[in-house]
Amino acid sequence: MKMSSMMGDVAEVLITSEQITEKVREMGERITRDYAGERLLLVGVLRGAVVVMGDLMRCIDLPCEIDFMDISSYGSGTSSSGVVRILKDLEEDITGKHVLIVEDIIDTGLTLSYLRRSLMTRKPASLEICALLSKPTRRRVELDVKYLGFEVPDEFVVGYGLDYAGAYRNLPDICVLKKEVFDGTPA
Ligand code: 5GP
Repeated sequence: MKMSSMMGDVAEVLITSEQITEKVREMGERITRDYAGERLLLVGVLRGAVVVMGDLMRCIDLPCEIDFMDISSYGSGTSSSGVVRILKDLEEDITGKHVLIVEDIIDTGLTLSYLRRSLMTRKPASLEICALLSKPTRRRVELDVKYLGFEVPDEFVVGYGLDYAGAYRNLPDICVLKKEVFDGTPA
């Protein structure tokens, strides 16, 4: 069976890869300035943050380590369940370290709010959040996001690490899919 091209499933490109590159570079420069003289531990939230983590870390001119956590609040659908489970914990001890959580998108904020509380109990020297995208109209809990790339409308987006049912993470742009993709009917 021939696979159709991913771009054929895209209804709209919201943010281009060029815009993302520029924004990630700006965030990296700010982080470099803010943590000057420190050693940083970047904590990526699997799996969506893998792409932004790879780009962001190369824009940070400081000694830095990376680690990953896998947290689940979504199945393969598109709406938040509010249920957060740690599927994979950190390898590193974060006590006394400057920790920056790197996330792809903040929707209700429930996932990061839980993660933040959970990591704070391990007594890091500091704990901040960096997210590429945020949907402010969807927020259900207050969350202090120190580094934010873009605000997006309340639409389900894919690409640059973000998936729908496991696919589309390797699209270079942030995109909205055609309605038919969710219905399962061919475009
Ligand atoms: P929250 O706990 O903030 O509601 O959800 C955060 C997580 O939900 C993100 O890490 C991501 O996995 C998922 N998510 C929220 N909105 C979207 C979206 O528009 N597209 C995709 N692919 N995932 C989303």
